[in-house]
Amino acid sequence: MTRSLAKSNAQFKKAIRHLPLGVSSNFRYWGEEKTIYVKSGKGARLTDIDGNEYIDYRLAYGPCILGYADPRVDAAARAGQEIGGVFALSTERECTVAERISKMVPAAELVRFSNSGTEAVMAALRVARAHTGKDSYVVIEGGYHGVFDAALWTTAVEDWKPGHGDPQLVPYSAGVPHVLRAMIHSVPMNDTERLESVFKAYSGDIAAFMIEPIMGNCCSISATREFLRDARALCDKYGILMIIDEVKTGFRVAKGGVQELFGVKADLCTFAKAMGNGYPISVCSGREDIMRNFGNGVVHGGTFTCHSIALAAAEKTLEILDETPALATIAEYGTKLRAGMSQILSQRGIKHSFSGHPSMSGLFFSEKPPRDYRDWVTSDYTFYEALAPHLHDLGVLCEPDSREPWFICEAHDDRCLGETLERFETAVNRVVQSARGPVKAPFTKYTT
Ligand code: PMP
Repeated sequence: MTRSLAKSNAQFKKAIRHLPLGVSSNFRYWGEEKTIYVKSGKGARLTDIDGNEYIDYRLAYGPCILGYADPRVDAAARAGQEIGGVFALSTERECTVAERISKMVPAAELVRFSNSGTEAVMAALRVARAHTGKDSYVVIEGGYHGVFDAALWTTAVEDWKPGHGDPQLVPYSAGVPHVLRAMIHSVPMNDTERLESVFKAYSGDIAAFMIEPIMGNCCSISATREFLRDARALCDKYGILMIIDEVKTGFRVAKGGVQELFGVKADLCTFAKAMGNGYPISVCSGREDIMRNFGNGVVHGGTFTCHSIALAAAEKTLEILDETPALATIAEYGTKLRAGMSQILSQRGIKHSFSGHPSMSGLFFSEKPPRDYRDWVTSDYTFYEALAPHLHDLGVLCEPDSREPWFICEAHDDRCLGETLERFETAVNRVVQSARGPVKAPFTKYTT
């Protein structure tokens, strides 16, 4: 079966006349003939305008924790619409939702809402700088924290060879002022010594250490518990605030996010995606003494902040995540998916491993997952890159770039998993076949 993207291709030709790259976010452009335009999404499935159906493991890069068009959340959102939108004034519900967040995430003593992950991280960095009176910050190589200038820096591992010093930190976008470089330090994940040497040398200038302990934009490469514990202690020792960016992990890997999973408490933490099941809402939260800087010298605001639709959706989503076994179900589906994939790959003698949490798995074709972004460069991701287009043709949507994890939602039920694994097996066979000639391995019958 080969998919037709005739209507998507025609739409692209039309859209390119009005939208740069024919899309509204660079990452949605997959090339003139591969860019997909969506008709609708329901549960864990998407249908494109050509009528192709996909079981979706991108899930809009994570927000759809319960599934697309979840009836419980959408009913709440519709009731939220009746309230009237935005008023440049506050509503009672903001406090109710903040209370729920503080209950689920103990580090979130106080909460400020925004619309996107980018805005939440911007607010966290600003308030950290204001609180400490310092400007610089430390990030982890391979991390991603949104589309604002201070975050749009990337480690140029593609041009780097192991053993040849450190890879360069470069702007991720044209238009990012080079002058900002002087304020950023970057260290490899899980390198406590490096972190301490940077802290020791520059602690007088460093306001914050910003980390996403499961790197949701870098194949879920993860911090070890020891590294996080040491980083926490080093932040305290050197007077540096720890910002844990939970935009992807928050309300996904545990009710209390990655902080609960790893037993660590941030000074500031940010949330977005899963908290509204796809409705635009985010949070910058943290220690009361830091958060009280908002309104006391630190500006934070936004016309669309706490729109009544998004806020009502967040209230319902968080209630479901907090009061039902949804997250346990999601982790169980993710674990089953890993086990099924593993069986298929092992039968064919293909080395592989998984990283991160079962609800957001990185898939590697090596015995052990990378320990940091430098390791990823030397890992073999060509198999993944060959596999993804076959999966798309077969109706399984994963990111073509191996750095994006596979996201699971509550709607990825056993039927989805069974279908996914059958298609995964076909795709793996196709890759192996094109590399080595016909595959003899028998097809497996899956029961999930
Ligand atoms: N931080 C992290 C960890 C993210 O994954 C993202 C988005 N992928 C952001 C921040 C930015 O969020 P948004 O796209 O909602 O601005």
